[in-house]
Amino acid sequence: MASVCIHPYVDGGLKKGGGLFAGGTLICECTTKPVKVKIKGDIAHNHACGCTKCWKPVGANFSIVAVAPTEAVEVVENGDKLTVVDATALIQRHACKECGVHMHGPVERDHPFKGLSFVHPERFEEEGWAEPGFAAFVSSIIEAGYDPSKMNAVRERLIELDLASYDCLSPGLMDYIATWTAKKSGVLAA
Ligand SMILES: [Zn+2]
Ligand SMILES: [Zn+2]
Repeated sequence: MASVCIHPYVDGGLKKGGGLFAGGTLICECTTKPVKVKIKGDIAHNHACGCTKCWKPVGANFSIVAVAPTEAVEVVENGDKLTVVDATALIQRHACKECGVHMHGPVERDHPFKGLSFVHPERFEEEGWAEPGFAAFVSSIIEAGYDPSKMNAVRERLIELDLASYDCLSPGLMDYIATWTAKKSGVLAA
């Protein structure tokens, strides 16, 4: 089982968050003039993500990604090194041009996630942030080249790590999106 690499942050066992995290500073991998992004307050919906769009450290099959309100996110140093990876994507992932780390990804268009920014909490200089609670888009690691015949081992390892395995988002987030859509169409009262 140890041969299944999920992400270096969780492979040694899940580190639980310390409760209320007051926020901190995300830092990219550059050794000189790193980009720094300040987050006020704790992150939410932290999870492992198997999609091919999220930034992952070398060797990881999953990213660790969470959201924070966009108003709580502030680029504080070397923001000139940031570039948007794909301007047409829902999530406007701002990556460091030098090291490639995605530093923040606001959702700006009309969508249930509008007003939220996606961040990679492993880049916090501080410890204690809310730990990942589930794994999303698990089957998508195949799209990045993972051997489909080894997916059972991946899902077993995720369960071992207390990360419920989903092939889209978690039921809570899927319900959240569907509720937004139903209110928008008028079948549910807003
Ligand atoms: Zn960098
Ligand atoms: Zn992803």
